[in-house]
Amino acid sequence: MNDTREMINCPACGQKMHKVFLQSGNCYLDVCVDGCGGIFFDGMELKKFDEKHENIDELKNELLNKEFVKTDDTQIRTCPLCGNKMVKNFVSAKKQIQIDECYNCGAKFFDHGELTKMREEYNNEEERRQDFLSRDYNEFYDMLSALGLQDGETF
Ligand SMILES: [Zn+2]
Ligand SMILES: [Zn+2]
Repeated sequence: MNDTREMINCPACGQKMHKVFLQSGNCYLDVCVDGCGGIFFDGMELKKFDEKHENIDELKNELLNKEFVKTDDTQIRTCPLCGNKMVKNFVSAKKQIQIDECYNCGAKFFDHGELTKMREEYNNEEERRQDFLSRDYNEFYDMLSALGLQDGETF
């Protein structure tokens, strides 16, 4: 997906968002510097920055030592790119971070501080994958036990 060039308004507070260029991902992110400090990702941009080792210094500098307005994160937000209603979703296995997602164009919005929190949950993609895998396995195992099937029994 192409990087969006148009200026957008923040889905949380309505301020004009700033374009911040991130060298490591070679793309621009929309950041709500004058408003709530939220970060907007279009399409696949998030993949480039969701791990701790991926460099987001430009983003951190942009948000450093600033006061941000509080927003009501229970409010349904509208995707500034396509106008669809955004859906609240938990992005991490630990279920502590809730972001707004647009199922129409794939955009994601993080309130101030949420991206850093998410990045700190796992050191890398493999750790995250392992965590999800073990969860899936546990659910599968629970399902088998519920059916009265135990390890070693044949179907
Ligand atoms: Zn904002
Ligand atoms: Zn959208």
